[in-house]
Amino acid sequence: MTERAVRLIVLGKQGSGKGTQCVRVAAHYGIPHISTGDMLRAAVNSGSGLGARVRATMEAGELVSDDIILEVIRARLSEPDAAGHGFVFDGFPRTVGQADRLDEVLAPAAIDAVASLEIPTEVVVARIAQRRTCASCGRVYSLTAPPRVQWVCDFCGGEVVQRADDTEEAVARRLALYDTQTAPLTARYRDLGALVPVDATGTVDEVAARLIAAVDARLAADEVGA
Ligand code: ADP
Ligand code: ZN
Repeated sequence: MTERAVRLIVLGKQGSGKGTQCVRVAAHYGIPHISTGDMLRAAVNSGSGLGARVRATMEAGELVSDDIILEVIRARLSEPDAAGHGFVFDGFPRTVGQADRLDEVLAPAAIDAVASLEIPTEVVVARIAQRRTCASCGRVYSLTAPPRVQWVCDFCGGEVVQRADDTEEAVARRLALYDTQTAPLTARYRDLGALVPVDATGTVDEVAARLIAAVDARLAADEVGA
């Protein structure tokens, strides 16, 4: 069997389990997990010029400009692990404008599948209040599923904290932006035949199994249709 690059996007509102599922998907397909939120938070924590430009925007729960995001994405895609090997995008694209620009960056290649994690807003609001995140690697924990040693990341030893933008106001703002800016992306990718809806309720393992089965079915349909 020939190695093929798998280019995936996972969409899902804040608290849908998107970050956790992207880690699973990345390991399953052997592709890098590219999270714009994690990359921007790392920039803020490192005190880089980029970090200084995006900090206030992120803390308010607003969207960083498409120009900055595309710059970050282009730089990341040119690294050897991503170039030609595929990826799973987490938190990108977030607007139809970003999706249009992504198509230009990838051409002549294209996205293989866009998984959309479906979950009611009431469920995610409760989850986010409990959410704690590794400040170094971005792994997600919660008050009910903490790291083994309190509050030290199981994977990297980093400090596990509540995100600066997980306040009630910033979460409400991000959920509102998700509806107005990001939800139209599902329609865009549905029209292109790339959308794979996935029920995101249940345990992490259940959702991961559903997600991978749905993406595999989509990739297989693509091979047959090609
Ligand atoms: P969440 O999905 O919980 O909002 P993320 O970690 O994906 O968290 O993003 C955190 C913040 O980073 C966003 O609120 C926004 O300020 C910024 N950000 C991340 N990705 C993008 C993007 N693609 N476009 C614009 N802003 C982004
Ligand atoms: Zn960590």
